[in-house]
Amino acid sequence: MRASQLLLPTVKEDPAGAEAISHKLMVRAGLVRQLGAGIYVYLPAGWRVMQKIAAIIRDEMNAIGCQEMLMPVINPAEIWQQSGRWDAIGGELFRLKDRKGADMALAMTHEEVVTWLAAREVHSYKQLPQLWYHIQTKERDEARPKSGVLRTREFIMKDSYSLDVSYEALQRSYATHIAAYERIYARCGLEVMMVEGDSGMMGGAVSHEYMAHADAGEDEIVFCRECGYAANAEMALAGADREPPVSESGEQGAADLLVDEVRSTPGARTIDQVVEYLGLPARAFMKALVVTVEDGGDGSQAMVLLRGDHELSELKLRKALGAESRLATADEVIAAQGIAPGYVGPVPTTLPVYADEVLRRGHYVAGANKPDHHRTGVSLEMVPQATFCDLHRAAPGDPCPQCLGDLEGARVIEVGNIFQLGTKYSEPMGATFLDVDGKERPIVMGSYGIGLARVAAAAIEQHHDDNGIVWPPGITPFDVHLVLVRASDEVQGALAEQLYAELGAAGFDVLFDDRDLSPGIKFKDADLLGCPAQVVVGKRAPEGLVELKDRASGERRDVPVAELAAALTELLSGP
Ligand code: ATP
Ligand code: MG
Repeated sequence: MRASQLLLPTVKEDPAGAEAISHKLMVRAGLVRQLGAGIYVYLPAGWRVMQKIAAIIRDEMNAIGCQEMLMPVINPAEIWQQSGRWDAIGGELFRLKDRKGADMALAMTHEEVVTWLAAREVHSYKQLPQLWYHIQTKERDEARPKSGVLRTREFIMKDSYSLDVSYEALQRSYATHIAAYERIYARCGLEVMMVEGDSGMMGGAVSHEYMAHADAGEDEIVFCRECGYAANAEMALAGADREPPVSESGEQGAADLLVDEVRSTPGARTIDQVVEYLGLPARAFMKALVVTVEDGGDGSQAMVLLRGDHELSELKLRKALGAESRLATADEVIAAQGIAPGYVGPVPTTLPVYADEVLRRGHYVAGANKPDHHRTGVSLEMVPQATFCDLHRAAPGDPCPQCLGDLEGARVIEVGNIFQLGTKYSEPMGATFLDVDGKERPIVMGSYGIGLARVAAAAIEQHHDDNGIVWPPGITPFDVHLVLVRASDEVQGALAEQLYAELGAAGFDVLFDDRDLSPGIKFKDADLLGCPAQVVVGKRAPEGLVELKDRASGERRDVPVAELAAALTELLSGP
């Protein structure tokens, strides 16, 4: 491809409001343009990256015997009604009516279509297992599209599905996918961690997420270097506490915590303020949050108790309540507990109480249900209705739930997700088969996703420098960026043309910057676009020498034309 003909609109300025480095660089390098909120156009160089990622995925999916097909984006509402998701999913599902007034949905994922198909085409255990996939557009009306292509309302996903006779068989399909996913991410140059999804608490359903380290990531994981445990911070199980509660520690002021007493704490509402006022560590406090349970709209309140140094995991609370909830408004708190937020405590309360496991032990300072007062000596023995559950978010420094080592934290981008669906869709949608004994049984399913744009953006997050992108060779838009320094110089021009033809014929993807622009602009563009190899045809052209620059290391050296192809092959085979 000649740069003089390529639509590669590089720009100097970062897009307004962009924070993620991948967002800035994808726009600046001329890879994408935003059409609307969470809606993007892929320009030629950006689309080449997406195609390379798709090719790697296709290769690895085919290698495990997964069959490529194509399922439609527009779906009749019936299949979503049968699965229960027409009602279970809120605003994220795009819905529309066709000209006859029939309800339609734009697929946000394809379990429904797969299960519909399986119900019709799979009849016997002899046909199983089946592995199906497609690389297709998904539509999701995301509440907060952000970070460039990382969270968009239309995106391309590889989604594959396994159909098996049993849960044991599903384990094999799952393991096969894990192996394929490892190869896919490695070939895309991405460092990922496979972490537990929200399985533990759901009982039965197993899932894992593939997380790529990146500052721009919306998710936070915790992991343990000692034993390899890794989980989403929202879901990570709590490890056994290493230290006793402050009230049993013998620390200064610990004895006061054992005394049941209402103490004046004027103006101290937040944990930080009370910590300062009473001179005790945050671990000595009990936070009481009042939440409104939005279960079928009954809007009742519940109290959630956490230790002062812990944050709530909304996901764990959702599991504990079996329903969505939100923080109660000040009016709701006053109506339910008779006191404004800030001084709420569990002694006494008539609300249902959900207490974090760590609070089983010890005495704490809690709100006294009286303005400007807190109560010491509060233990959960004083709250007989309390239900104990793991409710706090894991944080760096917490004990590992497996080996009690120190958990570390990292911000990550979820680039893929694998899920053991079991019979969640096959049962309601009637996707059954006849087993060896002629008995009808639901198909046991798995589903496996990878977001192509997230792979591209995460790769940029992990591989860039101040000058631009540093593409991993597997997914670079072009292998070689061939820069002709002086378009007006005949010798340079002739050599560059010759190399463009020869390297192309040798199988390299070459972007030939043949533009009549200053060398400085061309070099800047080459660094910004970030192809792994730059070949500069300049003043040593008469000697048959070109400069080869390794974009990743910045290393440059003169290479005789005859040795260029071999040098490029070596450079591009790098990690
Ligand atoms: P998230 O928690 O980030 O919203 P998800 O759990 O909804 O992701 P899945 O439904 O499992 O995602 O989709 C599979 C993959 O599709 C994700 O791992 C991610 O790579 C990609 N993906 C999901 N939502 C988006 C989006 N809005 N924009 C771009 N890619 C997405
Ligand atoms: Mg989502």
